[in-house]
Amino acid sequence: MRLLIVEDEKKLCDTVAKSLYSAGYEVDTCYDGNEASDYIMAENYDLIVLDLNLPGKDGMEILKELRETNEETKVLILSARSQIADKVEGLDAGANDYLEKPFHLQELEARIRSLTRRKFVQKDVCLHCGEIKFNTKKREAYAKDEFVSLTRKENGILEYLLLNQGRPVSQEELIEHVWDASVDSFSGSIRVHMSSLRKKLKAVLGYDPIINKIGEGYTIVEKKQ
Ligand code: CA
Repeated sequence: MRLLIVEDEKKLCDTVAKSLYSAGYEVDTCYDGNEASDYIMAENYDLIVLDLNLPGKDGMEILKELRETNEETKVLILSARSQIADKVEGLDAGANDYLEKPFHLQELEARIRSLTRRKFVQKDVCLHCGEIKFNTKKREAYAKDEFVSLTRKENGILEYLLLNQGRPVSQEELIEHVWDASVDSFSGSIRVHMSSLRKKLKAVLGYDPIINKIGEGYTIVEKKQ
């Protein structure tokens, strides 16, 4: 899951980013509306936390611009503007949620968890596929009810494949969603993490649950193929 935090109060922005990074998300930040606009056009985010009052381009303008071409990326507006009119305007413009400042980091995290799970209707915090389970809150993976110790990147890859069950996910897509902008994401590094993840799951399950089709990508499957 890759997020962008757009917030001009640098301290707040960094605190939010740090907390979301600890919660297992890959996080990019920017403090300015024009810069945010550039990031959004160039990258493919799963969710954007968007402040409204920004230097450069206004948050509402950024949201409207995004929604002209992109319905997929979730947007959570974060703003001190408490007037109901702003809330309505934001939701009408295609925001998925709205949180007023000041807020508790735990509430922001809970709302983000809920938004990023929404495309894959899921009531609890766990994602499942056959005998594989991933707890999105604790960032823990299980195979046959046995805890599997995974690295941060392996967790990210597994979560993304579980959220996109039933279709192949390409290497490029994984780079976009599981790696942040600070990492130089050459494909070799994906292969290393992927191969280690597959080995760890196979060791418990007795089969490799991730199928790789050349030219298509990786698909997670429920049982031995
Ligand atoms: Ca602001």
